[in-house]
Amino acid sequence: MSECKGHILIAEDNPTNMKLLRDILGFQGYEIIETYDGKSAVELIKQNKDKIDLILMDLQLPEMDGIEVIKLIKSDDTTKHLPVFVISAHAMESDMIKAMKAGCNNYITKPIQLQDFLEKINAFFRHK
Ligand code: MN
Repeated sequence: MSECKGHILIAEDNPTNMKLLRDILGFQGYEIIETYDGKSAVELIKQNKDKIDLILMDLQLPEMDGIEVIKLIKSDDTTKHLPVFVISAHAMESDMIKAMKAGCNNYITKPIQLQDFLEKINAFFRHK
């Protein structure tokens, strides 16, 4: 186990996708905080705001959708600095625009292309 490269909160309700993200990022040395619904995501983000380096956010989530979560954390002075990368199967331009308007910092489409995905994550942490 390599030393922790950073803390990433993942909000994703699909267990298979969550496992994939956890395995890939865990292997790379990132520490993962997992949440499976939007309301819990908001709570966990508030609780861990000083620790989280990056948020990976699915859009379709139970309880509260990802766009709402992004709007909430980006309108709160204590959490608005946190970077959010949307990870969504919604290739629709309207979803991307909604996410960007809500304040997301990057947009990754599912299914995840492993090399491309890791390059985006590692590039973010290199330039942090
Ligand atoms: Mn989902």
